[in-house]
Amino acid sequence: MATTAVKYTTERILWKRHWTDRLMSIRLTRDPAFRFTPGQFARLGLQISETGFLWRAYSIVSASWDEYLEFYSIVVPEGEFSPRLARLEVGDEVLVDKTAYGFFTANRFPDGEDLWLLATGTALGPYLSILHEAAVWQRFRHIVLVHSVREAAELSYQNEIAALQRHPLWAEHGHKLQYLPVVTREAVPGALSRRIPAMLQDGTLERTAGLTLSPERSRIMICGSPQMVEDTHRLLKTMGYALSRLSAPAQLALENGW
Ligand SMILES: Cc1cc2nc3c(=O)[nH]c(=O)nc-3n(C[C@H](O)[C@H](O)[C@H](O)COP(=O)(O)OP(=O)(O)OC[C@H]3O[C@@H](n4cnc5c(N)ncnc54)[C@H](O)[C@@H]3O)c2cc1C
Repeated sequence: MATTAVKYTTERILWKRHWTDRLMSIRLTRDPAFRFTPGQFARLGLQISETGFLWRAYSIVSASWDEYLEFYSIVVPEGEFSPRLARLEVGDEVLVDKTAYGFFTANRFPDGEDLWLLATGTALGPYLSILHEAAVWQRFRHIVLVHSVREAAELSYQNEIAALQRHPLWAEHGHKLQYLPVVTREAVPGALSRRIPAMLQDGTLERTAGLTLSPERSRIMICGSPQMVEDTHRLLKTMGYALSRLSAPAQLALENGW
């Protein structure tokens, strides 16, 4: 009798952290056969009835070599999936599709001088995984991580970002990373306060980072709210940047956060 191969593994929650009532991180056990390139996303599943499953895409936060898989999740109160995920406890089951998906990876770019990583909200996640690749630290002279949120409490992972700058695997390159937090709905000392496209357009990001943007030297990854991704992409196109494809390497990589 023919059997249908199961396309997912059943994993367990090892750890969870609520950053705010709308933001959480979880770590799941990882099937040893699950492989991914940093920047890719997994499909997480919950079984909600005997035959019913819900699946959602989640960017992987953890390093490719970590024994667990970490995810950074919004909790949308009216959403179908995320409130269920938020109610689970350590030890509970989450399904993980055996395949990792997506092309939002740093290896799609030709080499350049500066790597700009632009995120809103939970789109910080894929960059944390990418920044655990030693090759990324070696390939670029400067790395600028811009994380835009509405309120200061949403600036998650600050200690982890600081630790990245001191990581022994790329210790001599740690100084290359600049972290630029952006908080748009309250004034926070040390944080920028306007939307990413506006700060690209008027030169605020360049001035703050002390770097000049140009198609020759800059490689730019953009991930987050579809509006931010679209506005930023449209602006950068007018400035001479193009989407990087395997057949036509260029400067930009985009991913919508939902
Ligand atoms: C390629 C890809 C990668 C993704 N990676 C992540 C991730 O790493 N973390 C994550 O939390 N979500 C991620 N998402 C979104 C995720 O798949 C779910 O949509 C989200 O977790 C909410 O699920 P839900 O069923 O509760 O609500 P849904 O019905 O799926 O969404 C309801 C509404 O919530 C809003 N929303 C959804 N996701 C977000 C978000 N991340 N931030 C702000 N508002 C949002 C949108 O307005 C959406 O219409 C990703 C989506 C895609 C396509």
